[in-house]
Amino acid sequence: MLGAEPEVADVVVVGGGIAGCAAALAATRKGAEVVLLTKLHDPEEANTRYAQGGIVYTGPDDSSGLLVRDVLEAGAGESSRAAAELLSREGSPLVRGLLIEDLGVPFDRDANGFEGLHLTLEGAHSVPRILHVGGTTGYEIQYALTSAVRTEPRITLLPATEVLDLVVSRGQCVGISAAKDGEVLTVLGRGVVLATGGMGALYEHTTNPPAATGDGYALALRAGALVRDLHYIQFHPTALCGSDGERFLISEAVRGEGGVLKDPDGEEFLGHPLGSLAPRDVVARGIQSMMERTGSPCAYLDITHRSSQWLEERFPAIHARCSSEGIDMSREPIPVVPAAHYACGGVATDLSGRTSLRGLWAAGEVASTGLHGSNRLASTSLLEGLVFGWRAGTDAALPTTVPERLPVRPLRPEAIPESAPEDAWRCLRRIMWERAGLVRTAEGLIEGLAEVEVLEEDFGGTDLGRVLPVARGVLEGALADRRSRGCHYRLDVQEEEEEVVALVDLPG
Ligand SMILES: Cc1cc2nc3c(=O)[nH]c(=O)nc-3n(C[C@H](O)[C@H](O)[C@H](O)COP(=O)(O)OP(=O)(O)OC[C@H]3O[C@@H](n4cnc5c(N)ncnc54)[C@H](O)[C@@H]3O)c2cc1C
Repeated sequence: MLGAEPEVADVVVVGGGIAGCAAALAATRKGAEVVLLTKLHDPEEANTRYAQGGIVYTGPDDSSGLLVRDVLEAGAGESSRAAAELLSREGSPLVRGLLIEDLGVPFDRDANGFEGLHLTLEGAHSVPRILHVGGTTGYEIQYALTSAVRTEPRITLLPATEVLDLVVSRGQCVGISAAKDGEVLTVLGRGVVLATGGMGALYEHTTNPPAATGDGYALALRAGALVRDLHYIQFHPTALCGSDGERFLISEAVRGEGGVLKDPDGEEFLGHPLGSLAPRDVVARGIQSMMERTGSPCAYLDITHRSSQWLEERFPAIHARCSSEGIDMSREPIPVVPAAHYACGGVATDLSGRTSLRGLWAAGEVASTGLHGSNRLASTSLLEGLVFGWRAGTDAALPTTVPERLPVRPLRPEAIPESAPEDAWRCLRRIMWERAGLVRTAEGLIEGLAEVEVLEEDFGGTDLGRVLPVARGVLEGALADRRSRGCHYRLDVQEEEEEVVALVDLPG
């Protein structure tokens, strides 16, 4: 497969998380031969694996309309109603058909629950409708999907294969070029599905694993596909403020089960009617402002009304992680801080996952169906990856009229970029955290762009250089967007507006 002769498939899927696996499996059901590539050696290593809270299903007294309403409300007026309606309509049948019946994902059960399943409540959901497997839902879903991909004869799985470029010929995406074992590999297909996940690892504090460096946005930008709302980065309010600097996620479900956020004096501080279950952006900024006000390094998540045994059963991973930090969560509150968590924008797609570039589909976190608007409703991203990955794979597998021979120019081995020094990566992550974090100002964003320009000059030809256009996209998007809403917050504009109001209020 390596060398001059390109490999040919019907559909090429880049990424093996929930969206990529769903796309690949759906394409095979249409009779397509699929090649699925993952960046790392372990094909199960993806953001999907780390999802703790769960996946949206159908709750008691629930309806499609209610879920649509919750999605639209969380999205702060920016979500696509059509995408929300489609998710609400197709989500639960796909979870049941594929994940539960075909793949046997062992979701927690409850004899009294809807269809015998245990459903939990998460922030900004009207009813308990989140399916989970303890606190390791993503791990179980990823394991089941990768196992299905491995055993499907029509799928060729290629781990440790880093896609570097989309092959575009006469305005159409016809394949990918990748680095594998130091050589260039080219795979051509009549459809390419981008399912490369998010960009949390471009931030200093993040819940994402290190490989989530936003490669897919960079690939799409280089190939000329349209992206939108890259600056809508959702920050998770509650990552463990651990000793090693890693930000292990303390799932929203902890608050769903009654956990309450408190300041260092043990007082609740979120002045929102939903309290600790308010939308994520409100909670995250509330924590940041409390920390600034009090000088505290973190907030405290108190779930001490639950017993140690209950917590260990319900949240085994969180319980274990806290214990390893010497925190007994049944006796003391958990120290938490906000961290970059999810990219709500991305490569613009329609409801079949089609991008603006013919031959290129996108699904999952890298894509923007418009579902999340400017803020994602908890636990909708796994479902979005499943539903829209499935749709993208189905659509990409449809017979199309690709000319037999297109001129293609695959990458040359010299084009495999060198690694930038870790210091340079650290510098980018700091820029993103400080300039394009929870609270943004024009001044900070302009400084951030100047700092990125310096990195571009010094490291343009490296792996870091490849993702700098993504960082630039976030900073530029945030600078151009003066309206604060959802997860995008411009303090300078807020202050300007408050000043105007103050002037208007002056007596006489
Ligand atoms: C800690 C944590 C907890 C979360 N909890 C929840 C939750 O409870 N519920 C929920 O709905 N969502 C949750 N999310 C979000 C959710 O997990 C992700 O949005 C979702 O899994 C993304 O799926 P994906 O298939 O789009 O991408 P991923 O699962 O990230 O998969 C990306 C794939 O692309 C591959 N890839 C990337 N770049 C390249 C490249 N250049 N070449 C080849 N392959 C490449 C990777 O190797 C990987 O296989 C959580 C996220 C995190 C980090």
